[in-house]
Amino acid sequence: MKTTLTAKWIAPVSRPIIEDAAIVIEAGRIIDVGPQADVLPRYAATPVTPLGHVLVIPGMVNAHTHLELSDTAGYDDSTNHSHPPAGDSPDPSEHAAGRQNPVAWASRPWCRYSDTSSVPAKMGEPTIECPGNPSPPAFVDWLKQMIARSAAQPDQLAARCSAATIHGIAQCLRFGVTCVGDITSRPAATRPVLTRSPLRTVSFGEVRAMGANRSLLDERIALATSGCVSRRPDNTAARSNLRIGLSPHAPYSVELPGYARCLAVARELGIPLTTHLAENPAEAEFLEHQTGPFRDLWNSLPWWDQRIPRFTGGPIRLAHSLGLLDFPTVLAHVNCCDDTELDLLAAGRASVVYCPRTSAWFCHPPHRFREMLARGINVALGTDSCASSPDLNLLEEARFVHRLAPDVPPNTLLEMITLNGAKALQWDTDLGSLDPGKHADLAVFTITTPDPLREILEVSLLPDRVLISAREPSDPATSAQ
Ligand SMILES: [Zn+2]
Repeated sequence: MKTTLTAKWIAPVSRPIIEDAAIVIEAGRIIDVGPQADVLPRYAATPVTPLGHVLVIPGMVNAHTHLELSDTAGYDDSTNHSHPPAGDSPDPSEHAAGRQNPVAWASRPWCRYSDTSSVPAKMGEPTIECPGNPSPPAFVDWLKQMIARSAAQPDQLAARCSAATIHGIAQCLRFGVTCVGDITSRPAATRPVLTRSPLRTVSFGEVRAMGANRSLLDERIALATSGCVSRRPDNTAARSNLRIGLSPHAPYSVELPGYARCLAVARELGIPLTTHLAENPAEAEFLEHQTGPFRDLWNSLPWWDQRIPRFTGGPIRLAHSLGLLDFPTVLAHVNCCDDTELDLLAAGRASVVYCPRTSAWFCHPPHRFREMLARGINVALGTDSCASSPDLNLLEEARFVHRLAPDVPPNTLLEMITLNGAKALQWDTDLGSLDPGKHADLAVFTITTPDPLREILEVSLLPDRVLISAREPSDPATSAQ
């Protein structure tokens, strides 16, 4: 049965925003979208549901997160509130007007724009205002904390990952995110939850195998890809909400042959591949000299050995030399990138996922996403995990970039949190824009100004409604039972 929704604005993403718009849906998929004056006469017998003075955008796609770490921030899922520091109250006028996002922006000190400090921009570009983190954590110290956290109470880790994934799913749906690229180190705990969840997920099983652990590589790849169904056209299971991918973790935890093996497996199975790459400037030093902060990290672990291969030229050239850039690999972060590396990325098929608030929290160099986009590189946005970001609010990442780089057109930012994410996850034939044939995954925002895209980027709105295949998603806590 067909149904028509009308809205003051619909942003299909693949084309300019439409005013006084209509979208026609059948069996959970979009069959038509356009101005009401054109669409309604074509479906005269179809019931019409007016959504009112709203903006409809595609369900957002968070291309890089770790749902199993969603219990690491001060996010109270029962209230959908973060916990800002004491004394940090929302703007009362905004609050009274009902326009304040209950997930307070200023839940971490680095989010406060009063703390902004200028950092040099690339030549010829407007200055990027970096919201300085007054006390950025040393990246490797943070990694050590994450390792210690995983090692603590190992008998409870699976249950913790499962519960955190449920909380993470609830956050995503509340924020209008309907698809994620999720990294999991505990697929046996998280995939059963994701299978029953309404959220669409590419579940990337994470692999680490360096030094004395290299012999565990194949075993870990098998675990990471468990439940995998290859994407053959005749395979109906591949059309489910859950797809499996593979994630060699990072160049400081997977050796070169390990990366090559992961790529071969991804090709063989026809599944997506992702890795953390060029996140931190110290990766290049570690690869070439096996010194620096990452070696310090290894010195605190028992698995280092002398057979770990070296590589000169940094992580992006490493990825290029291994063929990762000739594959649609999802490269999380890419905070550190020189001009030649930009050329390498532009010549390849890999996507980049910029995680703006995480990048700012660690005070990484200004991200070159604008130059990447200008060169045709697919750049999506991601939240990374709640261990480095206040929450999983992907639109808040776009708002953050809007403040850092107000010259970037709002539609570009919208594209980065929808269609570009879907392209990165190789799901764009079904998701990421409001076009005929795609799933009716929608986020609906009440709008009060004549400029809806700017309004959702400048006011901390939450969506009033979120639909997946044109339906209200079920509660992840109950669907996970
Ligand atoms: Zn990550």
